Amino acid sequence: MVLTTSRHPLEAAKRTIPSPGAGEVLIRILACGVCRTDLHIVDGELTGPKLPLVPGHEIIGRVEQSGDAADRFALGDRVGVGWLGFACGECTYCVADRENLCNNALFTGYTVDGGYAAYTLARERYCFQAPAAYEPAEAAPLMCAGLIGYRSLVKAGDAQRLGIYGFGAAAHIITQVARHQERQVYAFTRPGDQEGQTFARELGAAWAGGSSEAPPEELDAAIIFAPVGALVPAALRAVRKGGTVVCGGIHMSDIPSFPYEFLWGERMVCSVANITRRDAEEFLALAPMVPIRTQVRTFPLEQANEALAELRSGLVHGAAVLVP
Ligand SMILES: [Zn+2]
Ligand SMILES: [Zn+2]
Repeated sequence: MVLTTSRHPLEAAKRTIPSPGAGEVLIRILACGVCRTDLHIVDGELTGPKLPLVPGHEIIGRVEQSGDAADRFALGDRVGVGWLGFACGECTYCVADRENLCNNALFTGYTVDGGYAAYTLARERYCFQAPAAYEPAEAAPLMCAGLIGYRSLVKAGDAQRLGIYGFGAAAHIITQVARHQERQVYAFTRPGDQEGQTFARELGAAWAGGSSEAPPEELDAAIIFAPVGALVPAALRAVRKGGTVVCGGIHMSDIPSFPYEFLWGERMVCSVANITRRDAEEFLALAPMVPIRTQVRTFPLEQANEALAELRSGLVHGAAVLVP
């Protein structure tokens, strides 16, 4: 699948301003981050998207209009919208306080239209007050890279020596949180990516190297943000007995087979799926306390394909953000 931004559907999206339904708000988009998940959707690695689709789930915008029974936000409020667009509140996962696993969830920029546009509609219960300390383009990557990074960090437990594989948008945000919590970060980039390793050290990583290298010390846990299955056995070899490997991405290439001894010693592998609204509330409150500084590269909305191409090339250090 190719994202057809050439005059269509983005141009069409800009011309047509929809009206909010019950419980919805109309948001004028100020910035929308470009996430690796958008690439997985555009490339067809995530199947069954709404079609035609407006991608984008790292939205910062202003409330322009509220539908019936939508009164959480005043007109003009600056809000953020992330990946979780709706959860049913009734399935076994929702009632167990695990709405990130909801059987009937809707996802922004995947199963409902997202933020590569001038306007979008969102259910107000899945919108958040945007942190006031940030410009819209700086805040946009917090809405997914930051949130998924935060949920991944929580899954890593109290690990002091934390490995991070894949040093893109999520890693650059969560390294700052980990440093704030006085953990040591060991950053793994593509082999030979000196620029990425320098970037990681500048953000406070104790060590940075290529993903094929062994860290100088055993790790307590590792988070894998790169969509590369071969990193799972690599990370398992780098963590100590009882350590955890957290797979933070929504898609990964196949994990190669590996000897049981890599897992032996009560090591654990887990994944992170989506986010809950509580994750968002906790993380958006934490961000200005750290304070997290996002490094963003902005693109005009019309250059969505160029932004996606840069992300695919792995050359974006920090986060790409579209500005209408
Ligand atoms: Zn549910
Ligand atoms: Zn995302």
